[in-house]
Amino acid sequence: MPIMSAAERILIVGAGQAGARAAEALRGAGFAGEVGLIGDEPELPYERPALSKGVLLGEEAADTTRIHPAEFYREQRIALHVGVRAEAISPGSRSVLLSDGVRLDYDKLLLCTGSRVRPLIGADDSLGGLHYLRTLADCARLARELQPGRRMVVIGGGFIGLEVASSAAKRGLAVTVVERQSSLLERALPADIAAHVERLHRERGVAVRTGAAVARIAGDAAGKRVAAVEFTDGSALPADLVVVGIGIIPNTELAEAAGAESADGVVVDEYGCTSVEGIWAAGDVTNHFNPILGRRVRLESWQNAQNQAIAVARNMVQDPQPYAEVPWFWSDQHGVNIQMAGVAEARAQTVWRGEPGTTRALAFSLLDGRVVCAVAFNAGGEMRFVRKLIETRAQAPAAALADIGYKLKDLVKNLAAEGAAA
Ligand code: FAD
Ligand code: NDP
Repeated sequence: MPIMSAAERILIVGAGQAGARAAEALRGAGFAGEVGLIGDEPELPYERPALSKGVLLGEEAADTTRIHPAEFYREQRIALHVGVRAEAISPGSRSVLLSDGVRLDYDKLLLCTGSRVRPLIGADDSLGGLHYLRTLADCARLARELQPGRRMVVIGGGFIGLEVASSAAKRGLAVTVVERQSSLLERALPADIAAHVERLHRERGVAVRTGAAVARIAGDAAGKRVAAVEFTDGSALPADLVVVGIGIIPNTELAEAAGAESADGVVVDEYGCTSVEGIWAAGDVTNHFNPILGRRVRLESWQNAQNQAIAVARNMVQDPQPYAEVPWFWSDQHGVNIQMAGVAEARAQTVWRGEPGTTRALAFSLLDGRVVCAVAFNAGGEMRFVRKLIETRAQAPAAALADIGYKLKDLVKNLAAEGAAA
């Protein structure tokens, strides 16, 4: 039964993409009670993807990342508390203590606390030229340093590292990406598909060093700025600036202190419920059950931040529906749009549709004859068919997937017809 009591109070902690979309969705679902949105960044809620791309390059204004203008929150009666941290939850009395000493009561609580950058152990954060990238403030600091001719070392060959490398190369910096794994994007892509991304970077002049173990970041003689990245094998790369993109840590501590189960993220079910009565969670911070994959995942993507948050917010005030989507994300590197759907599996086989060396191609990852993930290089238009293949767990013949003369749209239709006839 819908619960829409005007007296009810819903509090959302974390005013990032998930938090803002959840607040919006509560009003969209007709929730008439109080909505509070608490965020520790001194900003209106914003989206992060452009921070490593257009905004970093100065091609898009920082303001374009705002999810809504300030008036939206006033008009929608969403009490926005920014620049203030939720310090503790009292699940018994249903209240949250803020860093400014204010205590807010709630009937239902949604945690959208997201994640923070993983620090490089031992690095001296006070050194000039050492950067991480998560927030608008980080982006502004880094953007000021992107000057042509400078030498940049990027530590971490994940999405942050590669997007920053691509932006810096476009700006005319001499960039080296160092990754400790044997291939780039190890966590996200099968190695043979990631090799295509590596080639793209090398062709655009970015040096890539995999299997590289960083020993330390050395400062200059005055100890003020970075001077080099040193490796455990004794080698070193001189650097005018260093960007560290070695992953994130989900912000689970607040939930854990409130008694919520946590295991690589706050554990929630497909409805977004945590193990604590009256507390839900959504976005980067969750480790959630995905009914399509049939297992738990923690996703770090725009799609999940937005759609899981909307689904969970609705579940807080309406008949609950499971959040079930094929994971999808995109990246832009060196002018190539890369989209991925599904989740990479170690045992999967790759089938290419189109020449791997070209900038327009699709790579399917097949496990036991089923597509479990696919990566599109400048072929985003095909993703809706790819998602369908993953969602329906259809047995897809490798030859048909590889055949560029056989439209994916038709393949999906034919497989569905075969499935119905069987
Ligand atoms: P977050 O964005 O981390 O927001 C959580 C907010 O809660 C933060 O502001 C945090 O400070 C705040 N908070 C935490 N704890 C508290 C507390 N106790 N009290 C108050 N506030 C608190 N994904 C893609 O799919 N495609 C892309 O191209 C892409 N590009 C990206 C580029 C960059 C530079 C970055 C950093 C990320 C990118 N992502 C991309 C990932 C995507 O932005 C994240 O998955 C998304 O931001 C997660 O949203 P969230 O709201 O769950 O968490
Ligand atoms: P990732 O976890 O994707 O990648 C980090 C990489 O750095 C891993 O391969 C990791 O290897 C490696 N690494 C860790 N420690 C070291 C080290 N000491 N030396 C060298 N390499 C190391 O995280 P990112 O930092 O790239 O991204 C952070 C967040 O931003 C993620 O949530 C990501 O999804 C998001 N993001 C998403 C984008 C997109 O979807 N387009 C774009 C930009 C950011 P190991 O596995 O061994 O730890």
